[in-house]
Amino acid sequence: MLKPQPVPETPTAPAPEPHVRIADLTKTYEIDGGASRIDALGPVTQDITKGEIFTVVGPSGCGKSTLLDVIAGLQKPSAGSVSFEGREVTGKVPDGIGVVFQEDASFPWLTVRENIAFGLRRLGVDKAEIETRVEDALKLVGLADFARAYPGQLSGGMKQRTCIARTLVMQPRMILLDEPFGALDQQTRLIMNDEILDMWRRTGATVFLITHSLDEAVVLADRVGIMSARPGRFIEVIETGWPADRTTDGVFRDPHFGELTGHVWSLLKDESTKIMGGTA
Ligand code: ADP
Repeated sequence: MLKPQPVPETPTAPAPEPHVRIADLTKTYEIDGGASRIDALGPVTQDITKGEIFTVVGPSGCGKSTLLDVIAGLQKPSAGSVSFEGREVTGKVPDGIGVVFQEDASFPWLTVRENIAFGLRRLGVDKAEIETRVEDALKLVGLADFARAYPGQLSGGMKQRTCIARTLVMQPRMILLDEPFGALDQQTRLIMNDEILDMWRRTGATVFLITHSLDEAVVLADRVGIMSARPGRFIEVIETGWPADRTTDGVFRDPHFGELTGHVWSLLKDESTKIMGGTA
């Protein structure tokens, strides 16, 4: 007779390493040569999952840009740490991270094509490779017909597309965007939101986006992080549950959208009221 065999234990797979790990992060700025200090951020402990869109909202001055700058290696933390793909971020933009800022950062003396090629040229990438990657990026942001135009000849939305293409051409695995559409009108902004979703689906990049627009935060996100008044901490991180093939109009029609946006606003309203001395 066969002896009963012990049931092998199901090996539990180790939890995947988060794309970004933010641990006990704080940032204090010293001003007037150290005469006074501003506690700008934290402590923040938060993981960002590979391939998600994580959006951040918070009252003005709560430390959102500071948080993005620290993830990008543009500011040093006062305490705690940030790691990207398992390596601590220290003092420079890590390979694989691309940053898009609100202000139009294109060079006015270069054409759209030259602006997009700029970073690759500086790295000394092969000419044929630059050409292919620039063409792809131009198509991805819908600027193929404007490749020879100068930024001054473009609308606000097109200028911002140029900046996004300049980042995409570097093939980042993570894209950080700091209020990228703040200067655009609402309709252009929503069109750009759909383009961001499209870009995200096609590249598979992780997206971390700061915005003042509640609609934008909720529509785009897999998760929305809501920050407290300064020094900013995440008071809640909400999963939206939207499908990967979402669109702005589709989400607007979803009854869950109103519920989520209402919840985000109620949290944000409390925090924003604090910095206004209790009166709105
Ligand atoms: P947010 O992006 O949420 O508006 P910021 O991260 O820009 O907030 O700023 C957080 C706080 O830190 C603000 O009070 C701001 O004035 C201050 N701050 C930001 N950058 C600096 C800096 N380089 N030096 C001194 N204080 C700064």
